[in-house]
Formats: sequence, C-alpha cells, structure tokens
Amino acid sequence: MKLSELGEFGLIDRFSKQFIEKIPVDIMGIGDDCAVIPVSDTESLVVTTDLLVENSHFLLDKISPFELGYKSLAVNLSDIAAMGALPHSAFLSIALTKNLTVEWVDEFFRGIQTLCEKYNCLLLGGDTTKSEIGISINFTVIGKGKTENLKFRKNARPGDLICINNITGDSGGGLKLLLEGMEKIDNPDYKKLISAHNFPEPDVFEGEFIASFKSVNAMMDISDGIDSDIRRIIKQSGCGAIININKIPISDELKKVSDELKWNAVEIALTGGEDYSLLFTINPDGFQEFSEKYYNKFGSQVYIIGEITNTDKLEYRDGNKMMEFNRRGFDHFNVTNK
Ligand code: ADP
Ligand code: MG
Repeated sequence: MKLSELGEFGLIDRFSKQFIEKIPVDIMGIGDDCAVIPVSDTESLVVTTDLLVENSHFLLDKISPFELGYKSLAVNLSDIAAMGALPHSAFLSIALTKNLTVEWVDEFFRGIQTLCEKYNCLLLGGDTTKSEIGISINFTVIGKGKTENLKFRKNARPGDLICINNITGDSGGGLKLLLEGMEKIDNPDYKKLISAHNFPEPDVFEGEFIASFKSVNAMMDISDGIDSDIRRIIKQSGCGAIININKIPISDELKKVSDELKWNAVEIALTGGEDYSLLFTINPDGFQEFSEKYYNKFGSQVYIIGEITNTDKLEYRDGNKMMEFNRRGFDHFNVTNK
C-alpha cells in the first residue's frame, strides 16, 4: 500500500499503537498538541516538535528569512499554548543548503530571537548540518504548566460550546495568493492574507488564560483547518459536533478578496490551515463569565461556532439548514490535497 492511501493520520495511528501501550498512565504522549510529563505534584513539562521542509511547508522565494525563523518557532509555541502552558526553552535542528548567504541566516535567527524574547523562550541547543536537497527546520520546544490546568483534545463533552478565539481563513487565503504568484501585487488586502500565512502569531498568553478556566474542557490549536481539527477532538472525546458555518469568523479582507477572485471564503476558513487560532470547548454554564473575563484581558471576543453532540458525527448547518461539507483539512501524503 502507498503512503498516499494511508494518509498522515492513518500512518501515525498505524505505527503509534505499539509505543502508546508502553506509556505510563501519568505521562501523556502521541495524540495531543504536546506530550505531558509531570515533574512535581503540581507542575508538568509539555514538549512539542514540528518540522518545516522547503517546498513542502514553504517556498524560499515567497517568505523572508525573518518570517521563516519566526514562523518555525511560532508553530511550536502555538502547540504549547494549545495545552495551556507557557514556553520555557527550545532546541533547533537545521539542515541548510550551501547557496544561502550569511545575511539570510542572520535574518532567520533574528526572527527566532524576536519571538524568543517576546515569550521568554530560551534557545538551549540543536544541531546544524548541510543539505543537498533543500532546507529543513525542526524545533523542539519545552513548556511548563500547572498540571490541573492543562487541556487535552480528549475531554470535550456533549453540550459543550465549540469556540475559537480569532478569525480564521486568512492564512489559507494567503497561501492561495502565494501559489497563484500574486505576492508582488500592491494590494493591502492581499498583503494582510499573505502576512497571516508567512508571519503567524502564536496565542501564547491567550492559551494559558483560557486553560485556567475549569469550564473549558478541551483545547487544541488550529493547524490543519477547523474541519480536520474538530474531527480530532470529537474522535478522541468519543462524541460528535455540529458547526454553524454562519458563525465562523471571517475577516473583511478575506471576504473582499474572495468576492474578487471568486473563492469560497467559508471553505477556505474550514479547510485552510495554519491560522494558529485556538479551538476549545466549554461548558455553556461557564461561558458568560469566561467570555467577559477574556474580553477584559485581551480586548477581543471569542466566537461560538458550534456545539459538541452525543453522536459520533461532524455535522454542518447554515443557520437552521443542515448542509453537506466533504472537503477535509490538510493531510500530508493524501493525494487529494492541493
Ligand atoms: P500538531 O498538528 O499539533 O503538531 P500532529 O497532527 O502533527 O500534531 O501530530 C498528531 C500527534 O501525533 C502529536 O501528538 C504528535 O506528537 C504525534 N506524532 C506525529 N508524528 C509522529 C512521529 N513521527 N513519531 C511520534 N509521534 C508523532
Ligand atoms: Mg497542534
């Protein structure tokens, strides 16, 4: 069988079972945004790693070295935030091609340093090697959090409201523009979408804050698209979900560009990945208090996009009408992906 038939998640399921069996009950590994290792009665380390490969995750001529350094670390900090922990330290392994300039590498590390300083993350080690076939960038990031606050994908409960803390789809729109070669066009809306894709901000403090509420049951970051990521929450939690596509927050810029270029903005918001907003489920009884406190702290609202159900299906509705939506979010190895 070809890997393309199995898909990324099928592949992870296939090899991971034998390793998951050996993981002691107090440690959480494989399946969530981070692994969780308790280090005292009250605190845990959380650990995540992400690999960015040239031509698979980025095109060298469509992202600045500063943005690439920033994004490579940001996607990992987003996974730390998705658990409700704060970053502590990072390890960076890079394979670089010899045609790169020293100035390029300086800018790449300036991007990393900027983000390290913003969120108090120390670069403690890594590995550097040359590559004949393009750049690879792998960060491993360690975070720390209060064990009782950490949130997992597996704890969503029927009746929970499904929320996201930011607009979604801009990054997916930005990627479409880049792939269509439109990055040089002087249009502020295009620039905003491309920036969302190349220069994402991890919601580090938001994640820690959301996780401090007992009424929040499950959380993850949206890296592959709402459609794909909510499926992971309901699969692991043994429940279903209903998403109201009317409620998905889409930026004015994405709406404008979608009208102009005849894109379907809702589809981009559901299936486009890499927005790195936080997707979480909350007991409705705690929502009002939570949303007021969130607004007071961050000056922005959270959006209710649906509800966890006691079926095992993901359903969509448009206002009161049920609807079909079949396109899945991004999945490596699956040939149907663009
Ligand atoms: P995320 O999008 O949050 O980075 P992924 O979808 O990439 O998470 O991975 C899903 C889960 O599978 C994570 O817990 C990740 O640690 C685990 N995983 C992915 N690839 C591997 C691998 N090669 N070896 C062990 N665990 C893996
Ligand atoms: Mg994640």
